[in-house]
Amino acid sequence: MDGNPSRREPAARRRGESTALVTAQKSVYIKTYGCQMNVYDSDRMTDALVPLGYRETDSLDTADLVILNTCHIREKAAEKVYSELGRLRVMKEERALEGREMLVGVAGCVAQAEGQEILRRAPSVDMVFGPQSYHRLPEIMERARLGVGVVETDFDGDDKFEVVPAPARQAIRARGVTAFLTVQEGCDKFCTFCVVPYTRGAEISRPVGKVLAEAERLAAAGVREVTLLGQNVNGYHGEGPDGRPWGLGDLLRRLAEVPGLDRLRYTTSHPRDMDADLLAVHRDLPQVMPYLHLPVQSGSDRILDAMNRRHTRDDYLKLVARIRAARPDIALTSDFIVGFPGETEAEFAETLSLVEEVGFAAAYTFKYSPRPGTPAASLGDQVDEAVGSERLLRLQALVNRQQQAFSASMVGRTLEVLFEKPGRYPGQLIGRSPYLQSVVVAADAARIGTIARVTIEDIRPNSLMGHLVDAPAEAVDVAGAGGWS
Ligand code: SAM
Ligand code: SF4
Repeated sequence: MDGNPSRREPAARRRGESTALVTAQKSVYIKTYGCQMNVYDSDRMTDALVPLGYRETDSLDTADLVILNTCHIREKAAEKVYSELGRLRVMKEERALEGREMLVGVAGCVAQAEGQEILRRAPSVDMVFGPQSYHRLPEIMERARLGVGVVETDFDGDDKFEVVPAPARQAIRARGVTAFLTVQEGCDKFCTFCVVPYTRGAEISRPVGKVLAEAERLAAAGVREVTLLGQNVNGYHGEGPDGRPWGLGDLLRRLAEVPGLDRLRYTTSHPRDMDADLLAVHRDLPQVMPYLHLPVQSGSDRILDAMNRRHTRDDYLKLVARIRAARPDIALTSDFIVGFPGETEAEFAETLSLVEEVGFAAAYTFKYSPRPGTPAASLGDQVDEAVGSERLLRLQALVNRQQQAFSASMVGRTLEVLFEKPGRYPGQLIGRSPYLQSVVVAADAARIGTIARVTIEDIRPNSLMGHLVDAPAEAVDVAGAGGWS
């Protein structure tokens, strides 16, 4: 969720294989920053490049094409991109001396927000394209090869989801047993601190039929868990097969019928769009995991109003009570911003008290970062950096205590774990609990892609340690996909 390079790893590395094989072909190295939607977009870029003969690599040294898929949410995230571009310039010059090509592209939200400015600050960049333009990558590359920097940041209304060729079954399988699926994009909420409505554009929802087709393709290739993505995912209102707009609850019900899709998640939700139908889905559908990321940002009504969140502290607390009534064991997580312009110590204390009152399983905490063009950036009473940093530390300490307490409450419990990939040490696998915790277990690699019961024995700062309760690995062969490993 922050501007750090995402934890997504190239497919071969996720499978624990060497990636040396890809060097014989043209290869693309994509570095993904920021949110899960960027991870999804990076995969779509790879898919768009397949017809041009490119394969994904995790070796920057051999890549013929390097794309930075960027995040603009905070200043630090954007600045990291420029320092990375400095490094790439040197590599590109070295390559040129060897007579080899290395195209450099900047994609994502920094590209959208800064456009031409990127070419001015980093002339070694060949192409700059925003999140609504990646489906035109083949044509953009053709123009970039002519030697003029290309900038593509239009919102042209094409259905990019349909233009990019669907990934082959093998490519889906190589990406793992869990997958992201964008169902909604853009945002009309205009929180005063946030760049998303400007970089991702107005809210659109993909039609139910298209989402379903993509989910079925994923499941047929062996994907067991899908996370539906949207900047405001619970505001989903895609056209249903009956020609009427379907809400996220309806969509989840339909997806729960897809054979092989055992687990469904969605992120990120806005408190105002958490309707009764979605709560009923959490109550009724075993496929919908007991986990909800529901950002609140602040515990102070005055700050929430200044942020244009359009709900109060009390609205949020009442909503949490309704969610817990529907699904008592649900793990709630949130985002918080400290040091929003004008935030007093007393207002910050209201955020701490909200955290105490709710009890979160985890949370992302951020120091406010003024973003050019957003209303909050021009407010006069910006909070002193040192004050913001000190508040951040206090909030993080509280959130960490809650996260550790939540993890500790799992010790002795038996959880269903979906095994995703090899662990750090031979003989270990890493999986996910229903509450999205990483679980490390001694188990055979053949179990990747299966769900098994695991008793939790111990906790680590970012994971749970457990042992398998019962034996036989379920067949991973979903719709004839064959063994996983
Ligand atoms: N749509 C989601 C929502 O409604 O909360 C989140 C979108 S944003 C990609 C992820 C998080 O980044 C936000 O929830 C917020 O906490 C944080 N964020 C956004 N703009 C920020 C800013 N200017 N400074 C600090 N944090 C920011
Ligand atoms: Fe940004 Fe607010 Fe939209 Fe979330 S709801 S993407 S924080 S404007």
